[in-house]
Amino acid sequence: TAMKIGFIGLGNMGGHMARNLASAGHQVTGFDTADVSIEGVSKAGTAVEAAKGMDVVITMLPNGAILRAVADEILPVMSAGAVFADCSTVDVDSARAVAEQAQALGVMPVDAPVSGGVGGADAGTLTFMVGGSAEAFDKTKPLFDIMGQKAVHCGPSGNGQAAKICNNMILGVTMIATCEAFALADKLGLDRQAMFDVVSTSSGASWSINAYCPAPGVGPTSPSDNDYKPGFAAELMLKDLRLSQDAASSADADTPMGQLAAEQYRQFVEDEDGQGRDFSAMLPRFVSRRRS
Ligand code: NAD
Repeated sequence: TAMKIGFIGLGNMGGHMARNLASAGHQVTGFDTADVSIEGVSKAGTAVEAAKGMDVVITMLPNGAILRAVADEILPVMSAGAVFADCSTVDVDSARAVAEQAQALGVMPVDAPVSGGVGGADAGTLTFMVGGSAEAFDKTKPLFDIMGQKAVHCGPSGNGQAAKICNNMILGVTMIATCEAFALADKLGLDRQAMFDVVSTSSGASWSINAYCPAPGVGPTSPSDNDYKPGFAAELMLKDLRLSQDAASSADADTPMGQLAAEQYRQFVEDEDGQGRDFSAMLPRFVSRRRS
């Protein structure tokens, strides 16, 4: 049955997600502070207008501070029993604070960050990692199934964000390890194709080399074959690595490789000065560097 859905944050990800919900037959009302039009989605003038009377409100926003501000505005006008699903990538503390606030007002919260990027949002093949009650998860699952191909219930509120930053910490670390190994292989005179053929079928394999090889012309088509246009921009990788390090520090977890990866991507973003390259462009950086 068609649901009334409010969708707040119609950017690179949210625009596609809202469009997919509308084309599946749901009644979607969208709001963004920028003036954007999405096929099949009716426009609200304010966030409150996009939230009032909806069965489900979905947010896809830049960060935790903006999420908290939007939640303050919309939670009080949402119907009791409605679901508030935040799909942004934000810090675990913001996710848990907003969930508590929702619950106190009789709204069912889920934190449901995604993996799969803009391509996955467009194609409706995202993976959702979801924190919240079983009831809230079950109610939202049909919508996750439209916007994505897999939704994993990870436990109570905040656990979706926890899963997301742990995954992306592994991603950042394996991408750097893959890039420094390619640069070493170059200097040892090992052909990149041979390197790929061995590693992608050996114990050094990971998504970073097998599916997203940072070496141009080698492996499946990836941003390296398109001048390192994103893909997944280094800035977004840095954002997620910072979130993982903030979480590690508040949970007193030792994450030395995650910390190093955050530092490497901080330097990358600082050096490239807004070029917005893909995070796999770590490879040319290593190739041009010398042992320090
Ligand atoms: P984006 O910047 O393209 O979209 C964010 C949108 O939110 C913008 O359109 C902006 O105008 C709008 N916005 C900002 N403040 C607002 C407010 N107060 N009210 C309403 N709208 C507001 O970013 P994106 O790439 O779509 O990413 C959204 C979220 O998804 C981020 O948390 C990001 O980390 C996460 N994410 C992105 C990717 C990716 O590949 N782009 C992948 C996975 C997760």
